[in-house]
Amino acid sequence: MKKLLVTFLLTFTFSMLLAAQTSAEGYTTRLGGQDRFEVAVNVSKKGWSTSANVVLANYTAYADALAAAPLAYKLNGPILLTHAGKLTSVTKQEIIRLNAKSVTIVGGKASVSDQVITELRAMGISVNRISGQDRYDVANNIAKSIGKKDRVVVAYGLNFPDALAIAPYAARNGYPILLTNTNSMPDATKSIISQWGVNQTIVVGGTGSVSQNVFNSLPNAIRIDGKDRFAVASNIANRYYKSQSQAFVATGMNFADALTGSVLAAKRNNPILLTSSSIPAATKDSIINNGYQTFTILGGSASVSTSISNILGGPAVGQTIMIDPGHGGSDPGASGYGMLEKDIVLDVSKRVNARLYDSLAKVMMTRNSDTYPTLDERVQMAHSQGADLFVSIHVNAYSGSSPNGTETYYNTAYASADSKLLAEEIQKELVKAMGTNDRGVKQGSFYVIKYTKIPSVLVEIAFISNPEDAKKLANNTFRQRAADAIYKGIMNYYNKK
Ligand SMILES: [Zn+2]
Repeated sequence: MKKLLVTFLLTFTFSMLLAAQTSAEGYTTRLGGQDRFEVAVNVSKKGWSTSANVVLANYTAYADALAAAPLAYKLNGPILLTHAGKLTSVTKQEIIRLNAKSVTIVGGKASVSDQVITELRAMGISVNRISGQDRYDVANNIAKSIGKKDRVVVAYGLNFPDALAIAPYAARNGYPILLTNTNSMPDATKSIISQWGVNQTIVVGGTGSVSQNVFNSLPNAIRIDGKDRFAVASNIANRYYKSQSQAFVATGMNFADALTGSVLAAKRNNPILLTSSSIPAATKDSIINNGYQTFTILGGSASVSTSISNILGGPAVGQTIMIDPGHGGSDPGASGYGMLEKDIVLDVSKRVNARLYDSLAKVMMTRNSDTYPTLDERVQMAHSQGADLFVSIHVNAYSGSSPNGTETYYNTAYASADSKLLAEEIQKELVKAMGTNDRGVKQGSFYVIKYTKIPSVLVEIAFISNPEDAKKLANNTFRQRAADAIYKGIMNYYNKK
């Protein structure tokens, strides 16, 4: 956001950045559009300057299209969407732009009518249709047109998230996606697996989607499951895309954007992670633990909200932050008004942790419970975990009851300028949020900030020995305010740095 502080002269440049739908930090690109047709077209524009081949599916018929990504990838063409009765006009324009020679329709006449074929042929394009009696049959026929493989993916046919989450991996590796019912596999699908001599099967989804019986009937099956669609998609990413730094993000509540985006994800060798109205915990964990830092968002803001794209493009992504709740265990720290410092600072630290986690930072705590790591152990933890930032949280005390207020310390031994900036930002936010006396930013020689070689601060939220401050420290609302302020100070620091 510091770009915003630059003068008016740069406003034009900044508007250009916004027009390209790239966040100020530059880590997030949205392939949006007014509707799923436009999203598919924008994915196509991003991925293909020209393409001889296009795969075309009905915009509502996910059943036909579930298995289409590996075919489109093999043909090195995008998946576009159409209405059933008529070739949708933005799609037609894109087919012209691509200079396509051939269109493969997935689905029967109810999905994509002969009228659409007539329109395409009138454009000089050759058309072939892959259809079938039902969705399983369509998937089998797509598999046959990809050609014989000794590995296949098997996914549940009556819902879309699992098949689409595996689509980039299946496509990239040339594995057809076959569909099954939960408790029985269609005979035609079984016979493809035996005729091809398939020797490894990747099953996507839990036993509620693909039963243990079906799983057991498959050659050398492995299962990628998860407690919900978000966890399944995350587990696919965790298994196959650990070494990537980029991911695609699509809504898990609708099939269209993930379907059309999956071929581009395959080309880039990136996973597709799923979100809903917020970022599910499994998706957050996958982003944090795999270290994804660059995101392609599929769909408009109605599918993946602006607040989600702001988080994905935010300054905490890719950062490792060590929170140090002071004292603990045998060391209670200061005490007053029936409270112990070690308890207050652990509670506030956990609240800071939660805010940073929601912003996709990797957060670690020197202690999560009432234990006492030595000061040197705390410093070593920060170093061995590769922390980028160290924030030690304390409350203050004095022998008399009158001293009160907030102060934040830094040390000049290492990362002095950054430590000072971090201290200033946290101090400013804390005083504002807590309504406490501003005792200022100070230099101090506390062990944990003197010896950590990264930007580090020690925060004294308020005085446990002062009646007014202590009242605030006892209050959950004020503890949350303190945590929010420390969080905000950290985010300000990243934005200004
Ligand atoms: Zn302390």
